[in-house]
Amino acid sequence: MTEFELIRRYFSRPAPSAALGVGDDCTLLRPALDMQLAVSTDMLVEGRHFLPGTDPRRLGHKSLAVNLSDLAAMGADARWALLALALPAADETWVAAFAEGFYALAARHGVELVGGDTTRGPLCISITVMGQVPPGLAMQRDGARVGDDIWVSGTLGDAALGLTHLQGRVALPEQAARHCVDKLESPQPRLELGGRLRGLASSAIDVSDGLVGDLGHILAASGVGAQLEFDRLPRSPALLSCSDTGLAEQCLLAGGDDYEVLFTAAPAGRGALDTLAAELGLPLTRIGTIVAGQLPARVIRADGSEAVVSHGGFDHFAS
Ligand code: ADP
Ligand code: MG
Repeated sequence: MTEFELIRRYFSRPAPSAALGVGDDCTLLRPALDMQLAVSTDMLVEGRHFLPGTDPRRLGHKSLAVNLSDLAAMGADARWALLALALPAADETWVAAFAEGFYALAARHGVELVGGDTTRGPLCISITVMGQVPPGLAMQRDGARVGDDIWVSGTLGDAALGLTHLQGRVALPEQAARHCVDKLESPQPRLELGGRLRGLASSAIDVSDGLVGDLGHILAASGVGAQLEFDRLPRSPALLSCSDTGLAEQCLLAGGDDYEVLFTAAPAGRGALDTLAAELGLPLTRIGTIVAGQLPARVIRADGSEAVVSHGGFDHFAS
């Protein structure tokens, strides 16, 4: 099968909102005139971002999900995606499953695939997403203010725990293992939450590299510090069931791949955020406070001692 047949068969579903979709030199889009365009790219490389042999359907889902997560953390509404694929072979079964996972998630969030590139090479997936946000309402990393609450959606550490399970470094009970591997391979971008946080959150980031590390980006951009309450960090039953409590703690503080939204908000927003959590059926947990002085986040246990991250979050060039 040629490159063009592959594109035509698997990546050319209609994109009704575009003036011109897949098939020409460029796609032609109609961005809403009164909106800002939010654009982001994320690349997933086999062996670095996902394990060789990962189920292609799940990979199609995840590679779009991690990109949509960036739009969610910005408070943007998702519109379009571009997909650049390097494939070791034109394996139709693999491509069909990948496309299925990709389009299923795209459809759920009203995202249209409008273009891309396809080439032979070591398996690598690079996606560009575009969304729109009302001017002035994007949730940037530099908006945290002293006295703001720090909040996070969902639970933390599950995906990292799922990875250590797949690597054979920990043995989780079966149900916990399934939950954690699902979180790792099938993260849900928090787009609905992101949209509803516009005007409520003062800053936001999605947790892709670990809580403490990603919070550090907000602190650096905003010129502030943070104190987190260790006991308040949201833990799933699966994480609590892990017998290696040291490992579970590190996953909680610094595990990557959660794709939850970490955000700050003035204390006046507490009531609205609790209502929003109930409405979305998604836990929103207040985990700490922004403090003065540009310092790394401190995580304090109930007895006053500090919980320490044994490595500084995930950095692709650190090891
Ligand atoms: P060009 O040579 O101009 O780069 P290509 O032959 O690479 O064009 O692509 C042909 C058309 O197919 C273009 O519209 C491009 O955006 C689209 N396309 C290529 N690969 C993909 C893909 N993986 N997913 C979606 N669209 C794709
Ligand atoms: Mg091309």
